[in-house]
Amino acid sequence: MSQQVRVRFAPSPTGPLHIGGVRTALFNYLFAKKNGGTFFLRIEDTDQNRFVPGAEEYIMEALEWLGIAPDETIGKNEKFGPYKQSERKHLYQEYADQLINTDWAYYAFDTAESLDAHRKEHEEQGKTFIYNHHNREKLDTSLVISKEETAKRIANGDAYVIRFKTPVDEIIHLKDIIRGIVKFDTNLLDDKVLFKSDGMPTYHLANIVDDHLMETTHVIRGEEWLPSMPLHVLLYHAFGWAAPEFAHLPLILKPVGNGKLSKRDGDKLGFPVFPLEWKTAEGISSGYREKGFFPEAVVNFLALLGWNDGTDKELYSLEELVAAFDLERVHKAGAKFDPEKNKWFNHQYLVQAADADLAKDYAPILVEKGFSTSIERITKIVSLIKERAHFVSDFWEMSEFFFVAPTEYDAKASKNWKEETPELMQQLITVLEGISDFTSVNIETIVKQWMTANEIGMGKVMQPFRLSLVGALKGPHLFDIVEVIGKEETIARINKAIVSF
Ligand code: GLU
Repeated sequence: MSQQVRVRFAPSPTGPLHIGGVRTALFNYLFAKKNGGTFFLRIEDTDQNRFVPGAEEYIMEALEWLGIAPDETIGKNEKFGPYKQSERKHLYQEYADQLINTDWAYYAFDTAESLDAHRKEHEEQGKTFIYNHHNREKLDTSLVISKEETAKRIANGDAYVIRFKTPVDEIIHLKDIIRGIVKFDTNLLDDKVLFKSDGMPTYHLANIVDDHLMETTHVIRGEEWLPSMPLHVLLYHAFGWAAPEFAHLPLILKPVGNGKLSKRDGDKLGFPVFPLEWKTAEGISSGYREKGFFPEAVVNFLALLGWNDGTDKELYSLEELVAAFDLERVHKAGAKFDPEKNKWFNHQYLVQAADADLAKDYAPILVEKGFSTSIERITKIVSLIKERAHFVSDFWEMSEFFFVAPTEYDAKASKNWKEETPELMQQLITVLEGISDFTSVNIETIVKQWMTANEIGMGKVMQPFRLSLVGALKGPHLFDIVEVIGKEETIARINKAIVSF
């Protein structure tokens, strides 16, 4: 690539960032890093009606949390700033004027009422009203009135919009890196509004002007923007600018059924569709961060939504993703979202994480439960249970018995407590009392020697023993539990079981 790669993520701050938007940001990030380029974040807030306070900060915080922060954005390396469109407002008018002067655009004075009337009239005839070459010369536009009259109406303060004058009778062939050549018939396009008399550009104009001024080389965005590609390429052409390359990413689909993944799917099936929690007056939408996902796991599962490197490899660090990523290997077809698989990814990262780090995350939960134990002990417990956990928040349920003696015993498992059990448990206590090196392997060796020497079946001791310590037939290796809770507590729990059954 001769030119320095520059790609952007250009969200509109209309609410929390959907996980699909996060994937768009991630693919832009990976592509930039892979090519030694720049990834920048531009906030597209030209539609002030849809602006939601806090959304911009949310987007930045989400990218930071995921470890894919932009190289340039508001307040950071503002090489082509401002990075917020509402602060670039003064720039757009001259570009709209340029298109008027070169006959690529025209003024339209139609009122909302007259457009409504046209729509109704078409509907009555079973047709759809499209503002384009079919009717633009029958409407209230500068194409049918004189230059002087147009200037007069503008000077008078008549409300207007500037519309793109889409060329007629052209089939345009455009290249998309993921989809190959895509054909568009210009006769089917409408003359989109580019600029309004309130001085604000629309998304289309601002997006093209900014991508040009910010030297964007590749536009990587969601499939929902594919229908805008012909207009965007025609705009570049109209301005006489080289167009960037385009890549439209596949949709992220619902886990069950058809269609795009929505917040409702998340609510129904109990998984987040936002990276971070989002609070509004109506309630709280859960986020991957607050649910206990590791950012690395979220990045990993998102990268595989619509892309793979051609092998079966599933676990990638961010650096590995950067090295392996290839836009040409992104799929055309939509990618099904699988919440169970996402949890599996988190489990993989949890197992890989250092026990001491997990212990640091678990310690505050224990404090909340009323236990302050040494970090060494928590680390040891974590090492025993993490293999079966998906989240740090699973730890308490899996390790409660390390901190509190059972107060009740699993009813089904209690059938393992037989008539001869109290006597055997008494003997076990005596054996345990005699062990001075109270470590898992040593305790196991001595207890097993005792059972073999006295021809006592394994199940007869081990199941009631576990039941006494845990309250159920679950948990890690029994002798590891014995070591961690210690001799005194082990014996106390066996005694308690003897009197309880
Ligand atoms: N502001 C648009 C959005 O909200 C950007 C689309 C694009 O990347 O061109 O997604």
